[in-house]
Amino acid sequence: VIELSGVEKRFGSLPVLNDISLKVYQGEIVALLGASGCGKSTLLNIISGLLPPENGVITLQGEPIERFRRWHKLGYLFQEDRLLPWRNVRQNVNFGLEAGNLGREERRQRVERVLKLVGLEGFGDAWPHQLSGGMRSRVALARSLVVEPEILLMDEPFSKLDPQIRSTMHDELLRIQQLTNMTVVMVTHDVEEAVVLADRVVILKPHPGRIHQISAVDLPRPRVPTGKTVTEQVR
Ligand code: ATP
Ligand code: MG
Repeated sequence: VIELSGVEKRFGSLPVLNDISLKVYQGEIVALLGASGCGKSTLLNIISGLLPPENGVITLQGEPIERFRRWHKLGYLFQEDRLLPWRNVRQNVNFGLEAGNLGREERRQRVERVLKLVGLEGFGDAWPHQLSGGMRSRVALARSLVVEPEILLMDEPFSKLDPQIRSTMHDELLRIQQLTNMTVVMVTHDVEEAVVLADRVVILKPHPGRIHQISAVDLPRPRVPTGKTVTEQVR
Protein backbone atom coordinates (compact mmCIF):
# COMPACT_ATOMS: atom_id res chain seq x y z
CA VAL A 1 0.00 0.00 0.00
CA ILE A 2 2.84 2.36 0.85
CA GLU A 3 6.03 1.98 -1.09
CA LEU A 4 9.14 4.10 -0.78
CA SER A 5 12.30 3.49 -2.68
CA GLY A 6 15.57 5.33 -2.53
CA VAL A 7 14.11 8.26 -0.66
CA GLU A 8 16.58 10.99 0.21
CA LYS A 9 15.96 14.21 2.07
CA ARG A 10 18.26 17.08 2.94
CA PHE A 11 17.58 20.33 4.73
CA GLY A 12 20.08 22.67 3.14
CA SER A 13 23.40 20.95 3.64
CA LEU A 14 22.06 18.63 6.36
CA PRO A 15 21.31 15.15 5.03
CA VAL A 16 18.46 13.65 7.03
CA LEU A 17 17.16 10.64 5.16
CA ASN A 18 19.44 8.55 3.02
CA ASP A 19 18.27 5.82 0.70
CA ILE A 20 15.15 4.86 2.61
CA SER A 21 13.20 2.00 1.11
CA LEU A 22 10.14 0.68 2.84
CA LYS A 23 7.04 -1.28 1.96
CA VAL A 24 3.98 -1.25 4.13
CA TYR A 25 1.23 -3.69 3.30
CA GLN A 26 -2.52 -3.28 3.51
CA GLY A 27 -3.78 -3.62 7.05
CA GLU A 28 -0.39 -3.50 8.73
CA ILE A 29 0.51 -1.45 11.74
CA VAL A 30 4.13 -0.40 11.43
CA ALA A 31 5.88 1.33 14.31
CA LEU A 32 8.72 3.67 13.45
CA LEU A 33 11.36 4.01 16.14
CA GLY A 34 14.57 5.97 16.33
CA ALA A 35 16.45 8.53 18.34
CA SER A 36 15.21 12.08 18.56
CA GLY A 37 16.12 14.09 15.48
CA CYS A 38 16.80 11.07 13.29
CA GLY A 39 14.12 12.02 10.78
CA LYS A 40 10.95 10.16 11.78
CA SER A 41 8.64 13.16 11.44
CA THR A 42 10.39 14.09 8.22
CA LEU A 43 9.66 10.62 6.86
CA LEU A 44 5.95 10.89 7.73
CA ASN A 45 5.82 14.32 6.12
CA ILE A 46 7.27 12.79 2.98
CA ILE A 47 4.87 9.84 2.98
CA SER A 48 1.97 12.25 3.42
CA GLY A 49 3.10 14.29 0.44
CA LEU A 50 3.55 17.46 2.50
CA LEU A 51 7.30 17.50 2.00
CA PRO A 52 9.02 16.75 -1.30
CA PRO A 53 12.09 14.49 -1.11
CA GLU A 54 15.27 15.25 -3.06
CA ASN A 55 15.28 11.80 -4.54
CA GLY A 56 13.25 8.65 -4.54
CA VAL A 57 9.84 7.36 -5.48
CA ILE A 58 6.77 7.17 -3.27
CA THR A 59 3.58 5.41 -4.20
CA LEU A 60 0.42 5.07 -2.15
CA GLN A 61 -1.98 2.32 -3.16
CA GLY A 62 -0.03 1.99 -6.37
CA GLU A 63 -0.47 5.62 -7.36
CA PRO A 64 2.30 8.19 -7.46
CA ILE A 65 1.87 10.41 -4.47
CA GLU A 66 0.89 13.47 -6.53
CA ARG A 67 -2.12 11.60 -7.87
CA PHE A 68 -3.19 10.04 -4.59
CA ARG A 69 -6.41 11.63 -3.36
CA ARG A 70 -5.08 12.63 -0.01
CA TRP A 71 -7.96 14.41 1.71
CA HIS A 72 -10.14 11.38 1.36
CA LYS A 73 -7.94 8.41 2.13
CA LEU A 74 -5.13 9.67 4.29
CA GLY A 75 -5.26 10.66 7.94
CA TYR A 76 -2.26 12.39 9.47
CA LEU A 77 -1.85 13.03 13.15
CA PHE A 78 0.98 15.53 13.52
CA GLN A 79 3.51 15.47 16.32
CA GLU A 80 2.14 18.78 17.59
CA ASP A 81 -1.63 18.80 17.81
CA ARG A 82 -2.01 21.79 15.44
CA LEU A 83 -5.47 22.61 16.70
CA LEU A 84 -6.89 25.86 15.39
CA PRO A 85 -7.35 28.08 18.47
CA TRP A 86 -10.21 30.08 16.97
CA ARG A 87 -12.30 26.97 16.38
CA ASN A 88 -14.01 24.89 19.01
CA VAL A 89 -13.43 21.14 19.30
CA ARG A 90 -16.26 20.21 16.95
CA GLN A 91 -15.07 22.70 14.31
CA ASN A 92 -11.50 21.49 14.63
CA VAL A 93 -12.53 17.89 14.01
CA ASN A 94 -14.82 18.95 11.18
CA PHE A 95 -11.88 20.67 9.52
CA GLY A 96 -10.74 17.39 8.01
CA LEU A 97 -14.09 16.97 6.25
CA GLU A 98 -14.36 20.41 4.74
CA ALA A 99 -12.49 19.53 1.58
CA GLY A 100 -14.85 16.63 0.97
CA ASN A 101 -18.34 16.57 -0.39
CA LEU A 102 -20.30 15.13 2.52
CA GLY A 103 -23.57 16.76 3.49
CA ARG A 104 -23.81 18.82 6.65
CA GLU A 105 -25.77 16.21 8.58
CA GLU A 106 -23.40 13.37 7.67
CA ARG A 107 -20.45 15.50 8.74
CA ARG A 108 -22.12 16.37 12.02
CA GLN A 109 -22.80 12.71 12.78
CA ARG A 110 -19.28 11.64 11.94
CA VAL A 111 -17.79 14.34 14.14
CA GLU A 112 -19.97 13.30 17.08
CA ARG A 113 -19.15 9.61 16.62
CA VAL A 114 -15.45 10.17 16.40
CA LEU A 115 -15.47 12.42 19.49
CA LYS A 116 -17.20 9.62 21.34
CA LEU A 117 -14.59 7.22 20.05
CA VAL A 118 -11.77 9.22 21.64
CA GLY A 119 -13.71 9.72 24.87
CA LEU A 120 -14.54 13.39 24.31
CA GLU A 121 -18.29 13.14 23.97
CA GLY A 122 -19.79 16.37 25.26
CA PHE A 123 -16.67 18.44 24.62
CA GLY A 124 -17.65 19.59 21.14
CA ASP A 125 -18.28 23.16 22.28
CA ALA A 126 -15.05 23.48 24.27
CA TRP A 127 -12.19 25.63 22.98
CA PRO A 128 -8.68 24.25 22.55
CA HIS A 129 -7.22 26.50 25.27
CA GLN A 130 -9.68 25.00 27.76
CA LEU A 131 -8.37 21.48 27.23
CA SER A 132 -5.53 19.55 28.82
CA GLY A 133 -2.64 18.37 26.67
CA GLY A 134 -4.01 14.83 26.61
CA MET A 135 -7.45 16.05 25.57
CA ARG A 136 -5.95 18.16 22.82
CA SER A 137 -4.07 15.19 21.46
CA ARG A 138 -7.30 13.17 21.45
CA VAL A 139 -9.00 15.96 19.48
CA ALA A 140 -6.16 15.71 16.99
CA LEU A 141 -6.65 11.94 16.88
CA ALA A 142 -10.36 12.45 16.23
CA ARG A 143 -9.56 14.86 13.41
CA SER A 144 -7.28 12.32 11.74
CA LEU A 145 -9.89 9.55 12.03
CA VAL A 146 -12.94 11.52 10.95
CA VAL A 147 -12.05 11.18 7.27
CA GLU A 148 -12.18 7.39 7.71
CA PRO A 149 -8.68 7.06 6.30
CA GLU A 150 -7.40 4.02 4.49
CA ILE A 151 -3.90 5.06 5.49
CA LEU A 152 -3.30 6.57 8.91
CA LEU A 153 -0.01 8.28 9.77
CA MET A 154 0.54 9.10 13.42
CA ASP A 155 3.45 10.95 14.98
CA GLU A 156 3.73 10.06 18.67
CA PRO A 157 -0.03 10.06 19.02
CA PHE A 158 -0.29 8.83 22.59
CA SER A 159 2.79 10.34 24.21
CA LYS A 160 0.82 12.99 26.11
CA LEU A 161 -1.77 10.62 27.55
CA ASP A 162 -1.82 9.21 31.03
CA PRO A 163 -1.29 5.43 31.20
CA GLN A 164 -4.94 4.56 31.62
CA ILE A 165 -6.23 6.66 28.71
CA ARG A 166 -3.27 5.55 26.63
CA SER A 167 -4.17 1.94 27.13
CA THR A 168 -7.81 2.67 26.28
CA MET A 169 -6.66 4.43 23.10
CA HIS A 170 -4.45 1.45 22.23
CA ASP A 171 -7.43 -0.86 22.51
CA GLU A 172 -9.56 1.49 20.42
CA LEU A 173 -6.90 1.78 17.74
CA LEU A 174 -6.50 -1.99 17.50
CA ARG A 175 -10.25 -2.48 17.40
CA ILE A 176 -10.75 0.13 14.67
CA GLN A 177 -7.82 -1.18 12.72
CA GLN A 178 -9.03 -4.77 12.83
CA LEU A 179 -12.52 -3.80 11.77
CA THR A 180 -11.52 -1.44 8.97
CA ASN A 181 -8.25 -3.06 7.96
CA MET A 182 -6.68 0.36 7.55
CA THR A 183 -2.93 0.69 7.20
CA VAL A 184 -1.13 2.50 10.01
CA VAL A 185 2.36 3.95 10.28
CA MET A 186 3.06 5.35 13.71
CA VAL A 187 6.08 7.00 15.26
CA THR A 188 6.68 6.19 18.89
CA HIS A 189 9.46 6.38 21.45
CA ASP A 190 7.76 3.77 23.56
CA VAL A 191 9.04 0.27 22.82
CA GLU A 192 6.29 -1.34 24.84
CA GLU A 193 3.70 0.55 22.82
CA ALA A 194 5.36 -0.64 19.63
CA VAL A 195 5.22 -4.23 20.82
CA VAL A 196 1.57 -3.98 21.85
CA LEU A 197 0.38 -2.29 18.67
CA ALA A 198 2.65 -3.05 15.79
CA ASP A 199 2.96 -5.93 13.38
CA ARG A 200 6.34 -4.66 12.40
CA VAL A 201 8.88 -2.33 13.92
CA VAL A 202 11.12 -0.25 11.69
CA ILE A 203 14.13 1.42 13.23
CA LEU A 204 15.83 4.48 11.79
CA LYS A 205 19.50 4.73 12.65
CA PRO A 206 21.53 7.91 12.39
CA HIS A 207 24.95 7.50 10.81
CA PRO A 208 27.12 10.59 10.65
CA GLY A 209 24.54 12.92 9.17
CA ARG A 210 22.57 10.08 7.71
CA ILE A 211 19.77 7.70 8.39
CA HIS A 212 19.58 4.11 7.46
CA GLN A 213 16.76 1.74 7.92
CA ILE A 214 18.45 -1.09 9.74
CA SER A 215 15.86 -3.54 10.75
CA ALA A 216 12.31 -4.63 10.46
CA VAL A 217 11.06 -7.01 13.09
CA ASP A 218 7.95 -9.00 12.42
CA LEU A 219 5.43 -9.16 15.21
CA PRO A 220 2.46 -11.06 13.81
CA ARG A 221 -0.93 -10.40 15.28
CA PRO A 222 -4.24 -12.05 14.42
CA ARG A 223 -6.62 -9.97 12.32
CA VAL A 224 -10.27 -10.10 11.60
CA PRO A 225 -11.01 -7.58 8.88
CA THR A 226 -14.69 -6.87 8.31
CA GLY A 227 -14.47 -3.93 5.94
CA LYS A 228 -16.38 -1.53 8.15
CA THR A 229 -15.55 2.14 8.36
CA VAL A 230 -13.97 3.92 11.29
CA THR A 231 -16.95 5.77 12.66
CA GLU A 232 -19.21 2.75 12.33
CA GLN A 233 -17.12 1.24 15.10
CA VAL A 234 -18.30 3.45 17.91
CA ARG A 235 -19.74 1.29 20.62
P1 ATP B 1 11.80 13.65 17.34
O1 ATP B 1 11.83 12.25 17.84
O2 ATP B 1 12.50 14.59 18.27
O3 ATP B 1 10.44 14.12 16.97
P2 ATP B 1 12.40 13.18 14.54
O4 ATP B 1 13.02 11.86 14.34
O5 ATP B 1 10.95 13.32 14.26
O6 ATP B 1 12.72 13.69 16.02
P3 ATP B 1 12.72 15.22 12.52
O7 ATP B 1 11.75 16.20 13.06
O8 ATP B 1 12.28 14.44 11.34
O9 ATP B 1 13.22 14.23 13.66
O10 ATP B 1 14.04 16.01 12.17
C1 ATP B 1 15.19 15.39 11.61
C2 ATP B 1 16.30 16.39 11.41
O11 ATP B 1 15.94 17.31 10.41
C3 ATP B 1 16.63 17.23 12.63
O12 ATP B 1 18.02 17.38 12.66
C4 ATP B 1 15.96 18.54 12.37
O13 ATP B 1 16.68 19.59 12.97
C5 ATP B 1 15.99 18.63 10.87
N1 ATP B 1 14.82 19.36 10.33
C6 ATP B 1 13.53 18.95 10.42
N2 ATP B 1 12.71 19.79 9.79
C7 ATP B 1 13.48 20.77 9.29
C8 ATP B 1 13.23 21.95 8.51
N3 ATP B 1 12.00 22.28 8.12
N4 ATP B 1 14.28 22.70 8.18
C9 ATP B 1 15.53 22.38 8.55
N5 ATP B 1 15.85 21.30 9.27
C10 ATP B 1 14.85 20.50 9.63
MG1 MG C 1 9.41 13.91 15.35
